[in-house]
Amino acid sequence: MKVFVIDIDKCSGCHNCQIACKDEHCGNDWMPYALPQPNSGQFWMRVKQKDHGQVPKVRVEYTPWMCMHCDSPACKAAAPDAVQKRDDGLVIIDPAKSKGKREIVDACPYGAIFYNEELDVPQKCTGCAHLVDEGELPHCVDLCATGALRFGEEEDFADEIAAAETFEVNGTGPRVYYLNLPHLFIGGEVWDPKVNEIIEGAKVTLTMPDGTQRIQMTDDFGDFWFRRIDAGNYSLKIEADGFKTIERNSIKLEESLNLGDFPMKAV
Ligand code: SF4
Ligand code: SF4
Repeated sequence: MKVFVIDIDKCSGCHNCQIACKDEHCGNDWMPYALPQPNSGQFWMRVKQKDHGQVPKVRVEYTPWMCMHCDSPACKAAAPDAVQKRDDGLVIIDPAKSKGKREIVDACPYGAIFYNEELDVPQKCTGCAHLVDEGELPHCVDLCATGALRFGEEEDFADEIAAAETFEVNGTGPRVYYLNLPHLFIGGEVWDPKVNEIIEGAKVTLTMPDGTQRIQMTDDFGDFWFRRIDAGNYSLKIEADGFKTIERNSIKLEESLNLGDFPMKAV
């Protein structure tokens, strides 16, 4: 059974995959798997962008998004005769049998299906089944220069899948696995107002919602970044030789947070 594995850390946001999908499917008829994709406005593969944090501590993260080729597809439940789950795991909306069936669009909890008004059919990523049948890769995977996007047999990706996350909704069993998905961060900067200089090597301790701690030393910009953390209540302690310790409690994290500058006073 085939799977997609997407490593967010390797994704540069170049949008090649999105363009590759258009290149492969716009103006091309890949029956029996797909009629042509509209030239604009519909993206069977799209790269979502989310900004985290506040200036100047901002991170932009990209998440390629497509049909999840689910094990228990909600689209198939909505129209069993019009949707096929292939033996290799790819989910195909049959262009002939799905004509006029708008309900298939609404059935997908991932927003992966679009309605082609001109052709009167619901459409989505086919996993480039026409290429896979020839032993080739989906075009988006083929054109991803960073190796962020991969496709192949489930057993060949066993290690990646064990470390991956999915966007599981309602027990559909998505078969697109994400590595290094963006979580939240807490960042800040430590400095000495007396000499107007940043403090490198200050010890910053973050107490997590479960009481465990993470420790970092400020970098050569005086910055600290605690990445890959989730929503919850945190507390922070900053210590540096010759300075009074700073403590910040009850930090309620809902979105990534730049705590700003921490001026330290000499003892
Ligand atoms: S082609 Fe690869 S690196 Fe570029 S946006 Fe898509 S997944 Fe990310
Ligand atoms: S992601 Fe949506 S369209 Fe794709 S198989 Fe799952 S339910 Fe169907």
